[in-house]
Amino acid sequence: MNDPRRLVPRTDVLLAAPPVLEAVQRLGRERVKAAITAAQEQARRGELPMAADDIVAAAIDALPSAATDLRPVINATGVLLHTNLGRAPLSAAARAAVDRAAGTCDVELDLTTGGRGRRGAAAVAALLAAVPGAAEAHLVNNGAAALALVAVALAGGERREIVVSRGELVEIGDGFRIPDLLTSTGARLREVGTTNRTSPADYAAAVGEQTAFVLKVHPSNFVVSGFTRSVELEELTGLGVPVVADIGSGLLTPHPLLPDEPDASTSLARGATIVTASGDKLLGGPQAGLLLGAAGEGAELVARIRRHPLARAMRVDKLTLAAVEATVRGPVTPVRRALDTDVVDLRKRAEQIVAALRGAGVDALVADTGSTVGGGGAPGVVLPSAAVALPERYAAALRAGEPAVLGRVEDGRCLLDLRAVGPDNDQPLTSAVLACG
Ligand SMILES: *Cc1c(COP(=O)(O)O)cnc(C)c1O
Repeated sequence: MNDPRRLVPRTDVLLAAPPVLEAVQRLGRERVKAAITAAQEQARRGELPMAADDIVAAAIDALPSAATDLRPVINATGVLLHTNLGRAPLSAAARAAVDRAAGTCDVELDLTTGGRGRRGAAAVAALLAAVPGAAEAHLVNNGAAALALVAVALAGGERREIVVSRGELVEIGDGFRIPDLLTSTGARLREVGTTNRTSPADYAAAVGEQTAFVLKVHPSNFVVSGFTRSVELEELTGLGVPVVADIGSGLLTPHPLLPDEPDASTSLARGATIVTASGDKLLGGPQAGLLLGAAGEGAELVARIRRHPLARAMRVDKLTLAAVEATVRGPVTPVRRALDTDVVDLRKRAEQIVAALRGAGVDALVADTGSTVGGGGAPGVVLPSAAVALPERYAAALRAGEPAVLGRVEDGRCLLDLRAVGPDNDQPLTSAVLACG
């Protein structure tokens, strides 16, 4: 009769209190419920009065007062770079670097002299150290900005034409198209070849007085097969104009599993004058656009590009600079680990999760699946993977959970593909499924 448990207000009553409902909206049920449980414990131990108001106040006090409405989502889609989920998750090193840079820092200050320093010098140095053949680098907000800046700086004056193959006029996604991006800068496109075939002679015939540069765009999100011909970078080097290679995905050096995915070092070695790429694709860093110039003309052009008035409008902040530097210098990124993990390990993890779920009565099975790189990278490449298969109705419940989990629905099942799920998320993923009850 004197069991103190009877006296503590019930969890469902406390969760219905208005300030608690507001906190649930802001922070999600799981975090708020955990704070309530902790406050109930305190009350049981006599550290708090037993009144509901006191317990609610203590729980609210323990929660952060401000937070973002952005909710963390466990990426169980099997798509490594999911644009709707913010593409690459940052490494622990990059997260720590962002945190360190978040206050005031020497992003544009030389602490030795006390005068202005080159903005982002450390990130540029890290890139130059990581990319053999790069002699100058510049960072902007994303890959599209890198391309737009090259176009406006190099094809905005006397020489206005960008020579580009019709086979490389790519739509990136969400209705955005590279040819529209380029012409919006005032540059003119000189399209050469056809959708399926372009030869070196097509480029040679088009290059002239008006040519600012030849552009090679990696058709990163589709493949053309059959009667095709495209021109390699080395075949474009003798035309007497700069060659800009938009490689897209942002590999700095070749990756053995993705032989068809271009990388910055190889592109420079094959004769690109300037390489442009994204920071949040296979590089595994924050959203950013990289501009890398080869020694000589490439370096001079990148130096000129970064002094262009519009470069100021595309300037990256200290958080991006810190994250890029840490990503480039740092240990293996989550994206790289997801790419390189052996399917045998994924299967083991799936078996462990399924065993835990079945033990709790959940109708779960291990399924063999295929993952993709996504984010407009490595089209057609399927990486063998393993998933936890659940009844379809779990898909919506998991999206609403805390943390939210995004799987994919296939053949009437909800598949939680583990390739893009970091191993440290196996437990939260399991708990999220159990919470769907
Ligand atoms: C992704 C991509 C872009 C755009 O880069 P963002 O960083 O998304 O702006 C441009 N070109 C290619 C080839 C790409 O794959």
